Amino acid sequence: MKTIVLIENDVLTRALLSQCLAGEGWCVMEADNGEAGLDLVQKHHPAVVLCDIRTPKGNGFKVCRSIREQPALESTRVILTSVSRFGNDRDSAFGAGAHDYLVKPIPPADLLRTLAACVPKEPEPTEETISEAEKHAPTLVRFWGVRGSIPTPGHQTATFGGNTSCVEVRVGDNVIILDAGSGIRLLGQSLMKEFRDKPLNITMLVTHTHWDHIQGFPFFIPAYSPKVSVRVLGYEGAVHGLRGALFEQMQSAFFPVALHQMASHVTFEELDDLQFKLGSVRVSAIFANHPGICLGYRLSTPAGDVVYMPDHEAYERHEVERQKVSGETSEQGLDYARRQDEKVIEFIRGADVMIADSQYDAAEYPARLGWGHTCADDTVQNAILGGVKQLFLFHHDPDHHDKKIESMVERAQEWVAEQHSTLSVAAAREGAEYLLQPH
Ligand SMILES: [Zn+2]
Ligand SMILES: [Zn+2]
Repeated sequence: MKTIVLIENDVLTRALLSQCLAGEGWCVMEADNGEAGLDLVQKHHPAVVLCDIRTPKGNGFKVCRSIREQPALESTRVILTSVSRFGNDRDSAFGAGAHDYLVKPIPPADLLRTLAACVPKEPEPTEETISEAEKHAPTLVRFWGVRGSIPTPGHQTATFGGNTSCVEVRVGDNVIILDAGSGIRLLGQSLMKEFRDKPLNITMLVTHTHWDHIQGFPFFIPAYSPKVSVRVLGYEGAVHGLRGALFEQMQSAFFPVALHQMASHVTFEELDDLQFKLGSVRVSAIFANHPGICLGYRLSTPAGDVVYMPDHEAYERHEVERQKVSGETSEQGLDYARRQDEKVIEFIRGADVMIADSQYDAAEYPARLGWGHTCADDTVQNAILGGVKQLFLFHHDPDHHDKKIESMVERAQEWVAEQHSTLSVAAAREGAEYLLQPH
């Protein structure tokens, strides 16, 4: 039975909410002030805290902040309530780390819907619950945004595209979106056209919250539909939580619609494990060499494996150039860097498709040392060493027009031929699809 701590100063409201929750199978613990409520939270680690913002001995914002500051209570969801309809109070609730904000009187249906959206979902589907169609489906990879750093529209980028990172991986009706760069806008339109009134469940895997990987989210139309559920997964950033970063880019100074005004069920889950399942797809993650916390993902689907590592700086070249600049020589440093590259090669080993950071060429790289992106030569070499079948050069530099990208692909193909490798190399192109057939 899931536990909820109800912090509410008004006796009648508390009795009504408590009755409604108990009737839905919740174990309800009640407190009439913030201090007593926090005591219950410390003792019982509830799944949810439902707290009025105007409570004595510790208001709701304070209670929420105190819970968010404690790593042991990371999985406890906080829903703040109030009679206040002031936008300011709502914003402060989300700013304090609340998962939702409900205005009183709270219709029971709204309360239950909010709880269903914020409490961790039903267990991962077992083999039996994964549809036959999904188990035997091909895997479709579709590129919606392939550019790094900033969108670059214009005739010089028309062939490969100017939208920032967004890739769709589809296994049957399992819709997985990798990053929410500006390319996600068109993907959203396409999904709404395809699913129309049918229910649509989307999982979004975010590698990190740099702007080019989340900036399209406010324009993702499915998130405004009450029939859609969007589950956003990512690892906690160095400074901001996943939800915090998406929340902040939609604050009124930057965008007219707030995150909580999206009508769909948008839930955020910060990853604890580097391995998990999404239906028939096994996901493993690796930390990339990129400023802050950034992941690469490997999606093992029934039809084959897709690696997505959009932002990563290969370790050895980084260290070689760093030593050149600093005048330092350290064999130990080089060995360490090589070992890190080997871990990446193990991570990508045998992948059918690899979509990987190839932002610079070898001549450009030294001037961009430590910017968190890879020289394409290293991406190709790692793919060869890892026995990858199909490599897509990705996260194209905003200054690289189509001709430059074509020349980088030619250079990569020559390199592959010199190494007598069977690796196939292309540049990721907006609108392009790649299909993996089941074995
Ligand atoms: Zn990026
Ligand atoms: Zn980045």
